[in-house]
Amino acid sequence: MTAVRLERVSKRFGTTIAVHNVSLEVASGELFFLLGPSGCGKTTLLRLIAGFLEPDEGEIYFDDRPMRHVPVQRRDLGIVFQHYALWPHRSVFENIAYGLEVRRFPRGEIQRRVQEILQLMRLEAYRDRYPGQLSGGQQQRVAMARALVIRPRVLLLDEPLSNLDAALRQELREEIRRIQREIHITAIYVTHDQGEALSMADHLAVMHQGRILQVGSPREVYERPTSRFVATFLGQGNLFPCRLLCQENSVAQIETTFGAWRAHTQLPHHATGQPLYCLVRAEHWQLANEQSPNRLEAVVKRIDFHGDVLLVELLASTHSLYWRVPTPLAPNLMPGHRLQLSAPPERIVLLSD
Ligand code: ATP
Repeated sequence: MTAVRLERVSKRFGTTIAVHNVSLEVASGELFFLLGPSGCGKTTLLRLIAGFLEPDEGEIYFDDRPMRHVPVQRRDLGIVFQHYALWPHRSVFENIAYGLEVRRFPRGEIQRRVQEILQLMRLEAYRDRYPGQLSGGQQQRVAMARALVIRPRVLLLDEPLSNLDAALRQELREEIRRIQREIHITAIYVTHDQGEALSMADHLAVMHQGRILQVGSPREVYERPTSRFVATFLGQGNLFPCRLLCQENSVAQIETTFGAWRAHTQLPHHATGQPLYCLVRAEHWQLANEQSPNRLEAVVKRIDFHGDVLLVELLASTHSLYWRVPTPLAPNLMPGHRLQLSAPPERIVLLSD
């Protein structure tokens, strides 16, 4: 079932088109990410969904009900921002209870619900503390508890982890995912952090310049990008021009700078000779032997050590390429070494855009 639906939504600020003709469906109970670089329009899109802004064109539906002219407080939302915005002079309990008090819930019900959410968020030990006595991560948990205690229809999260250090971000990623699953809430989460989106999302939408370029599961979007922007925005890709020579039974023969290669791919019907781009992800290169397909020779320029993996910069013909290799698989690699690498045909993605 669709919980939130956007139909051809646009929003301008003066001459800036912040959101351009966006259509989108978020299923009930899923964690949906809006992912894109700074300025791509994701916060504007979230603010439109929340009702802080009205679209210039298009319509937003919650459970098939149009939301135009429905104010923020009537949309039944929980909202978590980057800045926790807790009341400093109220305790954790009082911060969380506030939303229920303004909705005039009976005292007993408030006690019960706050206790329940404190447990869910593993915050029981902090119920009488004030925000100033909590770490950033704990404050963000309180902000989330405050958003969830009213049992909203949809939870909106705008870069909720970007004020936290790396270890806390990781911990809270897992925590948000756990809670979202436990209570089956529909959640829309804005971030520019691809690691966050790839590791947490059921589905994600990649945005660029106000438009949605691709929607899918993290795996689909990562493994089958449909545009050069998505291919290079997610992960580390090597992208170089090529030409389609012919294709038969989902095997395409292509001409690359490194020779004739083949790719297993489901291309729409491209005319032979059409210029394309060939994507090989940095982790997909393999050391080649005589029988390997899609070979190239490269010289190691630089090696960055990342503990578990090495990021190796290579020069192949005039192209700089990247190879991510598990450290134990390349123990003696040094700058200046000459390598034969192969791109497995089933890993190659061909892009026309
Ligand atoms: P970030 O990750 O940096 O927050 P974003 O993807 O969330 O970026 P938005 O904040 O939605 O991007 O902004 C999209 C575009 O709209 C930008 O060019 C921004 O400058 C512009 N914009 C956003 N809000 C306003 C506003 N109130 N008035 C004028 N321009 C705005």
